[in-house]
Amino acid sequence: PYAAIGVEVNVDYVTAVAVDLSGERLLSWRRSFPGATTTAAEAVATVAAIVRRVANRMAKEERQVLGLAVGVPGLVGADGTVRIAPNLGWRDADLCGDLTKALRDPGFPVQVDNDANLAALAEHRFGPRAGTANLVYLTGEIGVGAGIVLDGRLRRGGQGYGGEIGHIQLDPLGAECRCGRLGCLEAVAGIGAVLEHAALSPAEVQIELDEVVRLARAADSRTLSTLATVGHHLGKGVAMIANLLNPEVVILGGYYVPLAPWLLPALEAELRGRTIAPDAGGCQVVASTLGYGAAALGGAARVLDSVDPGRLPRI
Ligand code: BGC
Ligand code: ZN
Repeated sequence: PYAAIGVEVNVDYVTAVAVDLSGERLLSWRRSFPGATTTAAEAVATVAAIVRRVANRMAKEERQVLGLAVGVPGLVGADGTVRIAPNLGWRDADLCGDLTKALRDPGFPVQVDNDANLAALAEHRFGPRAGTANLVYLTGEIGVGAGIVLDGRLRRGGQGYGGEIGHIQLDPLGAECRCGRLGCLEAVAGIGAVLEHAALSPAEVQIELDEVVRLARAADSRTLSTLATVGHHLGKGVAMIANLLNPEVVILGGYYVPLAPWLLPALEAELRGRTIAPDAGGCQVVASTLGYGAAALGGAARVLDSVDPGRLPRI
């Protein structure tokens, strides 16, 4: 039997999954990760170590690993170079080449892609809305990004840098973004902004986020107003997506998932008010059910997509 490996390196965590040929998860793994203070070279070493461990596990199960795809929170060129990852502080990092070297197997296929792109692939292939011809995955991390599927295919744009909705300016007087501009969507509606408004620090996002959810459940007024504000900002972003691309569904992912019950009312109100054709079939907004491993799962899907089932390597 075979396996495909997907990994996601993000600002505060690393996840890995392995799947079989049918996409069934064989293993999932997640750890916190100090992305903002980790260089690309250090991340390569971390990912290589994880991949070796996963590959060893697969070898014990007598599975041959077909390849690896890694998702990162940044703009990735077709050659797997990370052009810019604003929240990691990386520029022009040849992640794909360096990982291939670190894995010491030049024949082992390695691919690198944007985190939101891979998550969109995972939704398109494995999610409850699998097969939807037009869907957008909006990932809620420290950064915000979009993976765009149109007419059944992931669309990356000319150089692969499309979908950067996180860096569209929503508020000219808004907070400074890690990209250096003011009031980008992610600066006003990313998870860092949620935690900041709730007077929590983004040091341990998962723990702080649990606290936000607890406060929201307890109807804490400051928390509710923060989430409504973020929901309004997100709604403006989603309305741009709806007006521009007319997808059937926008899927909220990452840390937006546990917050969705409180984000959605404000988001949907903005969307209704700003969509030029609000009732032309509408654009549904739903929370992802694939969990935090969506981008890694999409990485594995990308590996599966790039092998020809009729030409699998001999075991
Ligand atoms: C990056 C995107 C990424 C998003 C989510 C943004 O800051 O520019 O490429 O998809 O964060 O991680
Ligand atoms: Zn920005």
